[in-house]
Amino acid sequence: MIGDGMGLSHISAGMYANNNSTILEQFEYIGLSKTHSLNSLVTDSAASGTAMATGVKTLNRTVGIDENNKNSKSILEICKENDYRVGLIVTSEIVHATPASFYAKVPSRYDYENIASQLSEHDIDLFVGGGKNHFNKRKDKRNLLEEMSDYTFVKNFEEFKNITSEKIGYFTYPSDPPPKEFGRKPSLDDLTEESIKKLSQNKPFFMMVESSQIDWGGEDNSLSYVLSEFKEFDLAIAKALDFAKADGNTLVIVTADHESGGLSVVGGNVKKSRVRASFSIGGHTGTMVPVFSFGPYSDLFRGIYENTLIFDKMLSAVKGGLK
Ligand code: ZN
Ligand code: MG
Repeated sequence: MIGDGMGLSHISAGMYANNNSTILEQFEYIGLSKTHSLNSLVTDSAASGTAMATGVKTLNRTVGIDENNKNSKSILEICKENDYRVGLIVTSEIVHATPASFYAKVPSRYDYENIASQLSEHDIDLFVGGGKNHFNKRKDKRNLLEEMSDYTFVKNFEEFKNITSEKIGYFTYPSDPPPKEFGRKPSLDDLTEESIKKLSQNKPFFMMVESSQIDWGGEDNSLSYVLSEFKEFDLAIAKALDFAKADGNTLVIVTADHESGGLSVVGGNVKKSRVRASFSIGGHTGTMVPVFSFGPYSDLFRGIYENTLIFDKMLSAVKGGLK
C-alpha cells in the first residue's frame, strides 16, 4: 500500500488530527526507505514506483525500464507468473506513474495512451481508478475498452460489489478523480475491502493500493488536502490489516514513494485533534520515508535500505512460498 508523497510528517499530522491515533501503530516492523532515483536526489513518482515495483533504480520520468531502456519485470508480473491473482486500486488515473510502474514499460510517464494500451494487453485481474478517457477517447481512435473483451467493466460501486467475473475493470472517473475533500467516491477503504474479497478467493493474491493524492495535497501545500487523503488511506490500511490478521498468511506493507511538500508539524492541540503545519516546497523532497510491515516475512522490512530493496524483500516473500 503506497501513500504517494506520504512522509513521516504527513503520518504525524494525520495521527494528531485523528485523536492521536493511526492504524499504523498496529504494524509489527518499521523501516526507512531511501527514495533517491538514479539521476536525482529528489525522485519523482515514476522512478520511485519503478524502484519499488521492479527493483531497479532508474531515471526520473521513466516507468518500468532501466537507464539502458531495458524492461524490468515487476513484482506484480512475477506474482502473476506464480499463479497469483493481481490487482491495482488507485485514487489517481490508473495510467498514472505509480500504478503504471507495476505493468508498463515506457521512457516517459506522460505517454498515457501508450501506458493505457499496455494495460489493455496486460493480464491484471482487477483494476480500479480514474482515466477512462485514455482508453476510449484516444488520438489514435482505438477503443481499448472494446479490445479488452475478456474484461467486465463496471459503472459504479454497486455493480463492482456484485460482479463475479474473472477480470474486472472499474473506471471511477473519466480523468483524474477529485480530492476526497471535494467528494471523491467510492472510498478507498470500501474499494480495498471489496477488492480483497474478490482477489482472495481460491488463490494467493498481490494487490497494490495507492492513496495517490496525499502527494497532490503536499504539492499544493494544503494541510486539509493531506489530512483528508491520509484519513481515508488509514481506513483502507485498516481493511487490509483486518484481512491479514484473520487470514494469518498475508503480508501487508505500507510505505511511500517519496515525501511531498517538505512538511513539518509545528504546533496544534493533541486533545482537540488540531494540527498546525508548514510546508517548505511545492514539490517532492529527498527525505527517507517509513515502511510499515505486518505478517509473514514482515521482519525483512526492518532497517534502513534503498527503495529498490522493497522489491527484493517482496520477492523473497513470494519465493519463500507466501501463498
Ligand atoms: Zn509520488
Ligand atoms: Mg502516485
